[in-house]
Amino acid sequence: MKSIGIFGGGQLAKMIMVEGYKMGHTFNVYDSNISACSKPMANEFFNYSFTDQLKIDSFFNRSDVFTYEFENVDPTFLENYKNKIPQGVEALKLLQDRYTEKKFINNLPGVKTVKFCLASENINIFPCIIKTRRNGYDGKGQHFFESKSYLNNNLLNNNNIVEEYMEGIEEYSLIIGRNLKGEIKSYPPIKNIHKNGILYESSFTKNIGDNIKSQMKHKAENIIDALNYNGVLCVEYFVRGNDIFVNEIAPRVHNSGHLTIEATNISQFKLHLYCILGLNIPDIECHYDYYMNNILGQNLKACEYMMQSEEFKNINYHIYGKNSDAINRKVGHITYKNINNIHEKVNNQLANFKSEGI
Ligand code: ADP
Ligand code: MG
Repeated sequence: MKSIGIFGGGQLAKMIMVEGYKMGHTFNVYDSNISACSKPMANEFFNYSFTDQLKIDSFFNRSDVFTYEFENVDPTFLENYKNKIPQGVEALKLLQDRYTEKKFINNLPGVKTVKFCLASENINIFPCIIKTRRNGYDGKGQHFFESKSYLNNNLLNNNNIVEEYMEGIEEYSLIIGRNLKGEIKSYPPIKNIHKNGILYESSFTKNIGDNIKSQMKHKAENIIDALNYNGVLCVEYFVRGNDIFVNEIAPRVHNSGHLTIEATNISQFKLHLYCILGLNIPDIECHYDYYMNNILGQNLKACEYMMQSEEFKNINYHIYGKNSDAINRKVGHITYKNINNIHEKVNNQLANFKSEGI
């Protein structure tokens, strides 16, 4: 049995811990947020800044193996301990900056991103999105521009990149794990729908051509090997016709993989633990036509209603226990197999919640 230390104490840490406790492991958690939602489950909770080297040193004395569940920790503070972090520190360095991330991707054979450049360069890509290089998530720090005349000069600097805006894309993610022996297993591609830059829905669907499907798998295998990365990572793709672009790579378990808890025999959280602990990975089996919807703060009441209703009794509810119901903040998710048109009913509830009878 191992003691596992997790950097970041949000819902991803919590779901890793749920799986890990079932396997007999214990967890220490490091997060600067005093009300991080995994705190009540941690053996020891380190509530210090991510730049406090002394506290980080003491955290590294308290566990056998370490992982991170978010990308924005400064890798220089982890450098001394990289041998205890199977995910490594290199992937973090490379992927927490969209510019170095996209350069890395385009240097791999057979893998590409959409057109991009630094926002300080002469921009000839329109329509475009200007994105912050660091610390962006859920579409934050992104600005759309139809043409040159609309550009906002304040954004035209080295801290941002410019990217071609792709009309009519489909979005997929490929969740893949590599264990300490170099063995790789992945899930079939997950189809994603975003609303306002925030993930709304993920599903396992059979409606993907075999060719596109196997290309996504092989590209992700090339990426994880090139990064020499051990653990679970997520590759997000944009697909248009036969063209496959990598949007971004998250070196961690990922929101689009939450449906693996119920829709597969080995969840992404369990897979991640297997990978970082060097265990052999069993073959992955999936249920198709399986959906996940995020519950945002504004959906919490609808979700509480659904939990108590006969109609929605076969849905799996995951509420993270964050002490906020803020608009557009992810506070939970639900998963379900689409039986009796439940997919449409859930969508209606989330869009127009009415709490009759409660
Ligand atoms: P984040 O780090 O916030 O997830 P992403 O780059 O993945 O940032 O952007 C969030 C979402 O915004 C994407 O999943 C997609 O729906 C949309 N988006 C981002 N970049 C583009 C683009 N170049 N073309 C079309 N849609 C985009
Ligand atoms: Mg994204």
